[in-house]
Amino acid sequence: MLKTVLEKIIDNFVFPLVVGIFLPTIISVVSKFNTGNWFNYAKNIPRIYWIVFAAIICIWLLASIIYRRKKLVDELNSDSLIGFYAVPAYGWIKVGEIQYVELVWNIKVPAPPPWSDSESLNTNRVEADTPPRCPKCKTEIEQSSSFWGGYIWRCVACDYRKKSKESYYKEAKRVEKIAKRELEKQTENESRN
Ligand SMILES: [Zn+2]
Repeated sequence: MLKTVLEKIIDNFVFPLVVGIFLPTIISVVSKFNTGNWFNYAKNIPRIYWIVFAAIICIWLLASIIYRRKKLVDELNSDSLIGFYAVPAYGWIKVGEIQYVELVWNIKVPAPPPWSDSESLNTNRVEADTPPRCPKCKTEIEQSSSFWGGYIWRCVACDYRKKSKESYYKEAKRVEKIAKRELEKQTENESRN
């Protein structure tokens, strides 16, 4: 709980900047309103408070930048980007499409060996293709990091655009879980019939 609160606070480096500008502005406005002078209140606050305030903002800003950098590196290191290390021996076969977080995801499983006559699919490894597809025209989506935190998904072929808190690599892992369960249900039904 504390961890998620802390993560939220440092997830976006715009927050410390906003607080750093907002708080002095409010003090000035209230000062102007009550005393007729913008700086009366600010002058009455001991200098040590301003120094501590500035230090907190600086540390906050630094923590946000480090946290974002770390998140980016973690993402680049995640196996979602280096999936090529284990292409199945006989390639993939597409088993369906799933619509999730608006996008269209192609779902694939390892193709069976050519001599195999088994009808059943290997559902141990279910993968969702990245990039996912545009829900309007099925073109591959382009992802960029947003200045305000999170990501922007954009279709290069049409006007589709969506903001997302998570990268599509992370969403792909979720789609894979859903798809895996769907395929398991199918095989369960088949074996029952
Ligand atoms: Zn499109």
